[in-house]
Amino acid sequence: MENHYCQKIVVLCGPDYSCYDCNQHCFFAWKKSICDANQSLTLFKEALDNSTDAVGMSTPEGKHYYQNKAFDELFGTIGEYPPDTMYVDKSMGDVIFKSLREGGQLTTEVKMYRKDRSVADVLLRAYANKNKDGKIISLVGLHNDISEKNKDAEELNNAKVLAEESNANIRSIIDNTTENIWAVDKEYKLIYINKVFQKEFFDGFGVQLQQGDCILDKLPNTSSKVWKERYDHAFSGTHFSFDDEIEVAKGVIVYVYVSMNPIVVGNDVIGVSVFASNITERKMQEKELLKAKERAEESDRLKTAFLQNISHEIRTPLNAISGFSDLLDKHELSDEKRREFISIIQNNSHQLASIVSDILTISSIDAKQARVNCETVNIYELMVELEKNYQQFAKQSNIAFSCIYGSDDIKPEVYTDKTKLQQILSNLLNNAFKFTEKGEVEFGFSLKDEMIEFFVRDSGIGIPAEDLKKIFNRFYQSDNAVNRKQGGTGLGLTISFSYVELLGGELFAESEPGKGSKFVFTIPCIK
Ligand code: ADP
Repeated sequence: MENHYCQKIVVLCGPDYSCYDCNQHCFFAWKKSICDANQSLTLFKEALDNSTDAVGMSTPEGKHYYQNKAFDELFGTIGEYPPDTMYVDKSMGDVIFKSLREGGQLTTEVKMYRKDRSVADVLLRAYANKNKDGKIISLVGLHNDISEKNKDAEELNNAKVLAEESNANIRSIIDNTTENIWAVDKEYKLIYINKVFQKEFFDGFGVQLQQGDCILDKLPNTSSKVWKERYDHAFSGTHFSFDDEIEVAKGVIVYVYVSMNPIVVGNDVIGVSVFASNITERKMQEKELLKAKERAEESDRLKTAFLQNISHEIRTPLNAISGFSDLLDKHELSDEKRREFISIIQNNSHQLASIVSDILTISSIDAKQARVNCETVNIYELMVELEKNYQQFAKQSNIAFSCIYGSDDIKPEVYTDKTKLQQILSNLLNNAFKFTEKGEVEFGFSLKDEMIEFFVRDSGIGIPAEDLKKIFNRFYQSDNAVNRKQGGTGLGLTISFSYVELLGGELFAESEPGKGSKFVFTIPCIK
């Protein structure tokens, strides 16, 4: 037999020392005397023992005849027919061997037993060695334990899934909250914006915000500068919060509570996240509460002032009445003096009656007891009567007085409460004369749509703007010389206001200090 040195001896030398490639007697077999079967594998072993892959070889029939060091370590010594002992799923082994015999090579992941019988994920790359004639001479399997890699990949994948889940959760919370939430990068570009903020920004400024937009460019110029300063403050690493007032349309204010937080990665601030809640309702309630508190305090103050005032107002005529009544009792009084005293007593009685009547009226209004007693009233006649009543008084006070009837043919008859209408006009006229030292007082009416509009105008001291809002409040009196000198209860306008309301109209005042005042009210023109 010719000595044969096969180049591929490492791979191709079969267990019977014949060459699988050429079928001739192997070089090692030829050297059988010095190289027995084990020796024939020495080179082969040396080469493969350095491999990290666990290499195993089988005859085409599947009989295992070689394994390298890595194979030893991974699988230990196995029986002749590996599928029986190596593969977790025995049928896998048969499938692999069958497919190698048919197809020549495969790469697959398969579960195999380690030598300690623990299960490993193994990447198997296997192929069938064929000779020149295409005959399979051996089956070679390279096994790589990828359990750790798989575990890492699985852990990585789990972490990724977890991160995605928590990201989705956070996103859903952020998107479904009632808070406005957004974040910008260092160029003030939106890196995140939730739907609430998108909507509120659109409702407020008519601008549809998108991720990537520069928020400063989208704000009105007036707000842009101040917001830039706020972002810059947060970029410096400061967390802060504040209440803000935003005028979204003329006269429409939205109140927001804003919290700004730097987004820090490592040592760098890479952006700013912002949380803003609409607190308009709360602010409004606070304002209402504050107003109510102020009103309560004002009312308390006014009541105290009223009590002091009223005791003075009642005591003055009462003292006069009792004082002059005592004097009347004296026999030596002349007739003239007696008449004078009687007149004083009468005037003071009227004054007292009027004060008591005002207090009773206010009480009945408070108790919602004031009733409207309607009758057909000829407005023209009522005005003529009032004009007559005040003419004499105007003459004495040297004040020009006139009634403006609109047009002569307007003599409306309306169905209303005559007494209340008279009292409203009298209260306004009394005030007009009271607060006018010289000049003129005029009053009148005109028809306006379905209403009759009355006015009382004077050229008196007028009312400061800050008092104009308060004069209809009960007991309120401006601090002026007339009030200090002549007193009053501060109830006349409150009564008038309530009566006008009861009659279905409105009362308001215009005034300019030093120039005079005009009180205007309406009542429905019901025939
Ligand atoms: P009183 O006249 O008894 O003080 P009112 O309720 O009638 O009470 O008026 C309240 C306050 O409104 C007055 O004290 C006065 O300061 C102011 N006022 C009302 N009418 C006039 C007016 N025509 N001109 C100037 N001030 C007025």
